[in-house]
This record gives sequence, structure tokens and C-alpha cells, in this order.
Amino acid sequence: MTDEAPTSCPYCDQRFAREQWQALHLGLEHDGKLTPAEREAVETARDEEEADLRTFRLKALAALVFLYFGFLFAYSLFA
Ligand SMILES: [Zn+2]
Repeated sequence: MTDEAPTSCPYCDQRFAREQWQALHLGLEHDGKLTPAEREAVETARDEEEADLRTFRLKALAALVFLYFGFLFAYSLFA
């Protein structure tokens, strides 16, 4: 990790490590004055964030199922 932020907000001085976060910030803080290209970037970032969230939920569920059957298996062995 470095302190170097590759992108910053064109409307305020906030800096971001990822372009996706910058786009999400634009949508939240400067929604009224976005150019069409910026608005599109916001939409794309929101879609990507949703996809990331779905992947995370799926992994969390898989981990829980794995844990559950792990304990069940251990129980059947040692009980
Ligand atoms: Zn800003």
C-alpha cells in the first residue's frame, strides 16, 4: 500500500485509491452536477459493487455451509 491516490474528485479535494470509489462518491455527493460520462461511471460502479456484494454473500454462505457440515462430520466421528 502507498499513499499515492490515483484518482481524486473533480468537484471537491477528496482522493480515492480506486476509480470505483471515486464514481460512488460522485453519485452520492455531487449527483446534481454530473456530466453524462460521469453519470455512466456512477452506474457502472454501482453495478460492480452489487456484483462484488453478491460474490461476497455467496462466499460467506459457502463458508457457513462448509463449517456446518464440518461440525456435523466431527460430531458423527467423536460423539
Ligand atoms: Zn467530491
